[in-house]
Amino acid sequence: MDATDMGGDLAKVLLSEEQLQTRLDELAAQVDADYAGRDLLLVGVLKGAVMVMADFARRLHLPIQMDWMAVSSYGAGTTSSGVVRILKDLDTDLSDRHVLIVEDIVDSGLTLSWLLSNLRSRNPASVEILTMLRKPEAAKVDVDVRYVGFEIPTEFVVGYGLDYAEKYRNLPFVGTLAPHVYAD
Ligand code: 5GP
Repeated sequence: MDATDMGGDLAKVLLSEEQLQTRLDELAAQVDADYAGRDLLLVGVLKGAVMVMADFARRLHLPIQMDWMAVSSYGAGTTSSGVVRILKDLDTDLSDRHVLIVEDIVDSGLTLSWLLSNLRSRNPASVEILTMLRKPEAAKVDVDVRYVGFEIPTEFVVGYGLDYAEKYRNLPFVGTLAPHVYAD
């Protein structure tokens, strides 16, 4: 899927495919250096992190393992409440593992804050976070995100794994939608 397949639904491209992929090169090089000689487990958060995980993991030279969690946060509409339910748990025992959570976007940070304390309670050797996108709201919650792709403004974005009503996840870029999409 590309901009041409969207009819008039696209408002603007915020981050191009090239920008995203170049930034992932840099992040992967950093993670390779930081975890050299260690055994790393990447934990992806479904479904939004699928694209980041696939592109990021393939750039790493480190041998890694990959696992997935699905969570749903109870909230009103598009805002997150921080109350989280596990829909799919990890298959991996985290004891003494170095864990890197791979996220698509941190907005309020409430979901991530919950996830972090949940994973920390499983006695891993370390837990760090990588997110492709971060919004300014996230600064209000004290979550230490070690690797950030891009800081973006407080706008609802789609593409590169992120959806609106389960659509647009397969866009190779990150963009905003035209107002009529929300009205339909
Ligand atoms: P938080 O708890 O940080 O507020 O919520 C994070 C989750 O909300 C993300 O994992 C994502 O699923 C969703 N989210 C937050 N902002 C956006 C956005 O701009 N676009 C989309 N599609 N989802 C978002």
